[in-house]
Amino acid sequence: MISSDLTSYGEDVFSEKAIKEYLPKTVATKLLATMREGKPLDPSIAGKVAEGLKNWALAKGATHFTHWFQPLTGGTAEKHDAFLEPAGIAEAIYKFSGKNLIGGEADASSFPSGGLRSTFEARGYTAWDPTSPAFIKRHENGATLCIPTAFCSYLGDALDMKTPLLRSIQVVTKATERLMKKFGVPPAHVSITLGAEQEYFLIDKSFYLKRPDLLQTGRTVFGAAPAKHQQLDDHYYGSIRPRILKFMTEVEDNLWRLGIPAKTRHNEVAPAQFELAPMFEDLNLAVDHNMLIMEVLRQTAEKNGLVCLLHEKPFQGVNGSGKHCNWSIAYGDKNLFSPGNNPRENALFLTFLSAIIRAVDLHADLLRMTTAGAGNDHRLGANEAPPAIISIFLGDELNSVMKEIETGKAEKREGGKGMQIGVDTLPVLPRDTTDRNRTSPFAFTGNKFEFRAPGSSQNCAQSQMVLNTIVAESIDAICDKLEAMEGDFNTNLQALLQRLIKAHKRVIFSGDGYSADWPKEAKKRKLPNLANTIEALKPLKNAANKALFVKYGVLSETEMDARYEIGMEDYERRIRIEGSITLEIARSMIRPVVADEFSRLATAIGQAKKDGLKVGIRGLTALSLKLGAGLDDLHVKCEKMEKALDKGSYAEQIEAMRDLRKTVDKLEYLVDDARWPLPKYREMLFIY
Ligand code: ADP
Ligand code: MG
Repeated sequence: MISSDLTSYGEDVFSEKAIKEYLPKTVATKLLATMREGKPLDPSIAGKVAEGLKNWALAKGATHFTHWFQPLTGGTAEKHDAFLEPAGIAEAIYKFSGKNLIGGEADASSFPSGGLRSTFEARGYTAWDPTSPAFIKRHENGATLCIPTAFCSYLGDALDMKTPLLRSIQVVTKATERLMKKFGVPPAHVSITLGAEQEYFLIDKSFYLKRPDLLQTGRTVFGAAPAKHQQLDDHYYGSIRPRILKFMTEVEDNLWRLGIPAKTRHNEVAPAQFELAPMFEDLNLAVDHNMLIMEVLRQTAEKNGLVCLLHEKPFQGVNGSGKHCNWSIAYGDKNLFSPGNNPRENALFLTFLSAIIRAVDLHADLLRMTTAGAGNDHRLGANEAPPAIISIFLGDELNSVMKEIETGKAEKREGGKGMQIGVDTLPVLPRDTTDRNRTSPFAFTGNKFEFRAPGSSQNCAQSQMVLNTIVAESIDAICDKLEAMEGDFNTNLQALLQRLIKAHKRVIFSGDGYSADWPKEAKKRKLPNLANTIEALKPLKNAANKALFVKYGVLSETEMDARYEIGMEDYERRIRIEGSITLEIARSMIRPVVADEFSRLATAIGQAKKDGLKVGIRGLTALSLKLGAGLDDLHVKCEKMEKALDKGSYAEQIEAMRDLRKTVDKLEYLVDDARWPLPKYREMLFIY
């Protein structure tokens, strides 16, 4: 039984309470200022922090510590060191110094670096991120103190996701402060926030162990569609099965201990698909928390005899999994994307909105880039996920406001004049879910923007880092323009926003993103449609994009090149692994069973003829013809797959996999159910 009170919330985090308890007052005050307001850390407190942190961790039963980081593999990494220090003959003490806390050395040679780290300089360095609190990870025999860190090469190049994210947060914070100053708003703390909705599948572990494709690639490369899958829409928000609810409560208990505000849980659209959403938090922390959420989901599933699949498309023909990234900017205690009820707040809101529209239009390619990956290729553009074309959905009310600013004429409201910035207030924007366009990759949802293209397994840092940077650039462009204009502020702003809307309205799209007409329409609007990973990674090589990231100091040119190389390498390897396992299963698991069945039929036909039977021979012959044709086809498709793996392009490998799958999935319906070697969709998706 899991306790339902909140006493264990944040228990495994070096929380504000623990900081105050374990650190001297002056040290605690300084550390908390860094954590809350991002104030630069006073390095002289590291020794004292380390001492307190060690005592806290020991009290929690920890014996080891690790610098916890997010390499470019997309996952997390840790290398444990014991606090242990020999002292005297066969005696030891526990030790942990400021130096241990602040930095570490990690052999970087086996992490992807895209050429950033030459092999003779294989060292990588981890650096403490004091803004994300240390936490304890428990296992059956004890616990480990985890210290969130950034990870870089000897020369300071970022080898991780966190470093550029932190840089981008500074950049958009600075731009926001600049704009607020233009509007004469008193200074306040800027925080960028993220609420990441995590989708996942759960299947029974016994099925998983019998599927080499799932084991090796996280997705099924074969599997005929079950008669019933999601046609009846009876899973979405359906009542949660007891076994799953038990799993979910254990997940939540773990997350709450880690101070992760898991809030929402429900069944998703596909059978065996679920979602977990935490309350939004400071972006950097929310990213760390999402990484932990994925880990806790996987581990808790394991404990419950289940397997959590975080792949974007584990099952063909049913919905894939995404990670909706809800993003906003808060200024003091005010959300800048909440339209206010006075003209000045509205002017600010509309300025931010225009900045974001401009950013997404100018840099749609970069946003798309952040969602690239072999797994997400199965999802984006498939008809349950947002398309690979990046557009913005604003909703009816905001659309008419934008139109009024653009044309100067009233839309829905009485009177001949359009919205006057700084004078009029906005109409009430309904925050009603029914009005939302679920098919849009980038939607305004009342007080935040929801980027829906990222895949369920992807680190949100990637998309958020780009979003921050491109929005900062747009805010700066607006500030530059306003500074160059003379005369009345509101009049200038009105003219500027009008120009921006005219120039960038093509990226606003309210229609059905799943419809076949949208790609055609998008083409007319000259919006990029980067259909797969190879296309989607190219923006990293683009000179203007490089200049943008360099200007803002978020990524250097070499860091961008490295990300391109890593993305391509990862893609190439995944496709190859998928192709190889497809071929192996087809040849060593499917073919023997089909051949066996075929030969049993042949024997039966021969016997029936010998016995002079009058019935049955026709049926047996028809089936053996089908199986025989399937067997021949299987041979041809396997040869094709082998050839593609040998020297084919990615496209040829993918095509060969698709062809082989068609053949095998047809055979699945023909072969004796008891002999089929792979657990079927109708079992995996429904029996748990
Ligand atoms: P849905 O989009 O599924 O209807 P919600 O509106 O509840 O769900 O929000 C989903 C996520 O968005 C949650 O993680 C929530 O905390 C987060 N969220 C809500 N408001 C904000 C905000 N101002 N900034 C960032 N995230 C937010
Ligand atoms: Mg959502």
